[in-house]
Amino acid sequence: MTATIIDGKEFAARVRGQVADHVTRLKTDHGITPGLAVVLVGEDPASEVYVAAKHRQTVEVGMASFEHKLPADVTEEALFAVIDKLNDDPSVHGILCQFPVPDHLDERRVVARINPAKDVDGLSVTNAGLLASGETGLVSCTPLGCLMLLRDEIGNMSGMDAVVVGRSNLFGKPMAQLLLQENCTVTIAHSRTRDLADVCRRADILVAAVGRAEMVQGDWVKPGATVIDVGITRIPHPDKPGKSKLLGDVEFASASEVAGAITPVPGGVGPMTIACLLANTVTACCRAHGLAEPEGLTA
Ligand code: NAP
Repeated sequence: MTATIIDGKEFAARVRGQVADHVTRLKTDHGITPGLAVVLVGEDPASEVYVAAKHRQTVEVGMASFEHKLPADVTEEALFAVIDKLNDDPSVHGILCQFPVPDHLDERRVVARINPAKDVDGLSVTNAGLLASGETGLVSCTPLGCLMLLRDEIGNMSGMDAVVVGRSNLFGKPMAQLLLQENCTVTIAHSRTRDLADVCRRADILVAAVGRAEMVQGDWVKPGATVIDVGITRIPHPDKPGKSKLLGDVEFASASEVAGAITPVPGGVGPMTIACLLANTVTACCRAHGLAEPEGLTA
């Protein structure tokens, strides 16, 4: 079997198109412009690249983008003062602080300071709790993106065996909750799981989010399964000196011979994350104003 390649780049463009349409309606019908504020502490080059991409895509869909760059030695008090101001600002519907932050700051305390209704990264304990209780909140962007890809590829997932490898708060746990909401029978695997290959082989839906390049081999995949590869490992490019190459957690060549559908790395899950950040911001804006949420952009 040769798997269908799930094109996350194309799907993310579709999501951004839906967001842009909704933003236009909010502006024309209600005079509201959704706004996303990004707080960046320090000068981490990778973070600066992410923040620039977020800014560009926010503006492209017609939303307002607010950037707050703070020095690496900013005190917690000064950072919280910025977050408090954004929490109180009615033109800001989504707030995210780009992680990692310098060591003297505690990421959990930073997330906890953001109003959960504006926590468009979905990382707060409140939003994690709402998801776990099956209530309406904001869902972490990458798992939300994977859910959208799975719904598009499979449709009804009820009764399917889903295995999520990785149990982080950022990805593994919310992904498992979302699959449970879709009525999958969910297994969460992690570094202490026995016979991981065997566990993976049971999965109709296999989601790998570990960060170990090509760990999941083709013979770990059930024939016909849908495989979502979240992992990203950067290695030196074998053919282009000085360049790097991205690898996923799944050995694509062998897995794509067995799977029914599979996301590539790059071009699979990656592009969905910012698209879902924009989707969450428009959702948060609609909720703040008591307006109908865009269809298909929420869990
Ligand atoms: P993380 O917090 O480091 O969690 C990794 C998880 O993998 C942990 O639960 C760990 O288990 C598990 N693990 C480690 N070694 C394992 C092994 N040998 N067998 C089975 N499980 C093992 O990472 P994360 O933040 O969830 O991210 C995971 C990967 O996804 C990374 O490559 C990251 O870059 C990528 N990612 C991509 C996006 C995107 O595309 N936008 C977004 C988020 C994450 P324990 O809990 O037992 O330690």
